[in-house]
Amino acid sequence: MEPLIHLIIPLLIVAAFKPQLDKRLVLGLAVLTILPDFDFIVGHRSLFHNLFFVLLFSWVVYLIFKFIINKGRSKRVLENKNAFYLSIFYLFSHLLLDIGNPGVPFFYPLSNKLFTLNFLLLTSSANGISNGIGLMTKTSFTLNPLIQGTAMMDAPVITTFGLLLFVIVAILLLIKLIVKKK
Ligand SMILES: [Zn+2]
Repeated sequence: MEPLIHLIIPLLIVAAFKPQLDKRLVLGLAVLTILPDFDFIVGHRSLFHNLFFVLLFSWVVYLIFKFIINKGRSKRVLENKNAFYLSIFYLFSHLLLDIGNPGVPFFYPLSNKLFTLNFLLLTSSANGISNGIGLMTKTSFTLNPLIQGTAMMDAPVITTFGLLLFVIVAILLLIKLIVKKK
């Protein structure tokens, strides 16, 4: 998934569902939504794309808040906790958005398997003309070998699927805001 989508979708979700959170915290930690992709530097697209990294890094963020940023401020206990949960949410959202082909090695380094979820929306057509009525979906869950993820080096800035996802989330949040106001 492209960086822009990785950043915007979780930010929109936090803004809609947790508007009471400190804006500086929400925006400051937002960099975590794209952090996992920096494992390309070490040439290994799995090092930061797993659940253990999500937990470990969120814990490190918590410690940084507790012992450095909020050192000696006993009233900021809640902010430390919020930083921890936000980190988990941001990092985990990255893994979820990456679940399309070739997939995510959720349990690396315990398992080298990539978890992949492929979702296709198809229209059946008669005589080569799609009537748009026979919509059907094709969903498959597969496990790919790790090498497929490591071999993938192209990084599109924006894809059709990413844009579509963004539009869907934006519409849902808009509906939520309108419903709330009434
Ligand atoms: Zn990624």
